[in-house]
Amino acid sequence: MAHSNRDPALRASVAIASRILNAEGILDYSGHVSVRAPGREAYFIQAGSDPRSDLEPDRLLLVDFDGRVVEGDGKPPIEAAIHGEIYRQRADVEAVLHSHMELAIAFTLMQDAQLKPMRARAVRWASGIPTHPDPSHIKLPEQGRALAQTLGPHQAALIRAHGLVLVAESIPALLVDAVHFEENAKAQIQVMQAGQVPVPLNEAEMEQINRHEVRDYHCSKLWTYYLSRARKSGLVPDHPSFEV
Ligand SMILES: [Zn+2]
Repeated sequence: MAHSNRDPALRASVAIASRILNAEGILDYSGHVSVRAPGREAYFIQAGSDPRSDLEPDRLLLVDFDGRVVEGDGKPPIEAAIHGEIYRQRADVEAVLHSHMELAIAFTLMQDAQLKPMRARAVRWASGIPTHPDPSHIKLPEQGRALAQTLGPHQAALIRAHGLVLVAESIPALLVDAVHFEENAKAQIQVMQAGQVPVPLNEAEMEQINRHEVRDYHCSKLWTYYLSRARKSGLVPDHPSFEV
């Protein structure tokens, strides 16, 4: 994807994705987006107390994998260990979302239902969506390591009675995954609310979808859609610091 890897553009993309995800109800007063800083054992993330609705690229912190602030003024989110430990354990991951998405949490509160890939875009989670058993806030490095272990090689994990993590290869891809993750959870709940038994995508169907899937094109298309809408509405300011 034609997406700049320079620090200012990465900072802008985190601020933009956070504003959009907040407007979409996927972030609220808490939850956070981060992106790996190229060539360093560190990542860009917001200060914990800054409102997700109007993050400024210049206020983002550069934080190392142990949660220490390398650049910037402010304190990282209390649950920063989620990000540091996932980046440490998953070299393929460039962007991380932690959200308290209501529909995802609902699936950690059910005795007999498990969240499965239902809609076509949910092939992204074909390998599985594990649930982390520790519902507490992920404040300590060992809690972050345990969550990263639950996530394993997968692209999403639920956290019991708490939320979820999603991982992706870029911020635009992470935004797109977050939107589709919620759509998928909603689809499964709608089937259950209709009193029906959900029929998830089977392996043959997922293979069929994957044969025609062009992820880069799709992520770029949706990122452009959300960004263009956000710029028009003023959600993302027309300012050089927001250039990606
Ligand atoms: Zn949390």
